[in-house]
Amino acid sequence: MNRRDFMSGTLAGIAAAQILKLPRLMAAISQDVMPRAHWLKNGLIDAGGSHEPYIFLVRRGGESRNARDFYERQQSEPLIRRLKEQGIEVFHTHLYKGFGMAAEKPEMEDTKRAAEIARRYGMRVDTYIQWNSLMYETFFAEEPRAKDWIQRDIAGQPILLTYGYQQSYRYRPCFANQEYLDYLKNIVRYAVVEVKSDFIHFDNFGLNPEPDSCHCLACVQGFRNHLKTKYPPEKRRERFGFENTDFVNPPQWNRDNPPEQMEADGALCQIAESRSSD
Ligand SMILES: [Zn+2]
Repeated sequence: MNRRDFMSGTLAGIAAAQILKLPRLMAAISQDVMPRAHWLKNGLIDAGGSHEPYIFLVRRGGESRNARDFYERQQSEPLIRRLKEQGIEVFHTHLYKGFGMAAEKPEMEDTKRAAEIARRYGMRVDTYIQWNSLMYETFFAEEPRAKDWIQRDIAGQPILLTYGYQQSYRYRPCFANQEYLDYLKNIVRYAVVEVKSDFIHFDNFGLNPEPDSCHCLACVQGFRNHLKTKYPPEKRRERFGFENTDFVNPPQWNRDNPPEQMEADGALCQIAESRSSD
């Protein structure tokens, strides 16, 4: 029986959805690039635990009345010991969901305690960090500057990370905003220094496609800087018909001109043949 068969046979119904397999190829690469990650050499068996903090279970709603008991059990010694007995090598658990460090600090300290238990049983620790959610209701109270850290559409409205239960409190932070990235570093630093995490699971690690790209001030300014870097003044005149691109906004798409129908060759953009371009 190989490791994958062992996992599927033993853990189904417990935490199978959270089992991660790291390909051996990636492990080999990691060994060369990151000598400290030599423990990945033989792959890993990773399971939890839950990566949802209690504050999120409550805010999302729809949980059972024993949600608090569930949360506490997911990082309890009996559960960690059981995972160890079943062959789990890396304990997966929550660390940060996007409510802000002030709101989540008590539960981040829970993670620190659970990580210590897991290490006592000879396991490594995998901590979940949600990098694509900024739960504004608590975050803005902690950090007023964060009103400028969220992704905004062309009309200036917040762009949501959409899920069930209409999680309209779940804004996407803008990854072009240096202040947000600096804040995120504090979360990662807590994972590395305080929790001594061996493995960080960044969830929703991606960018949103058009027409949902960010039009916040940082992105608009970044777009204008990109134009200046890509095109020297004479090329700007050649490409746009003028040199001053300080007021050029990122493209705004609409139903008649969706971005997926655009053909780009660097200088010329052509909408589908049937459409007028004049
Ligand atoms: Zn932005």
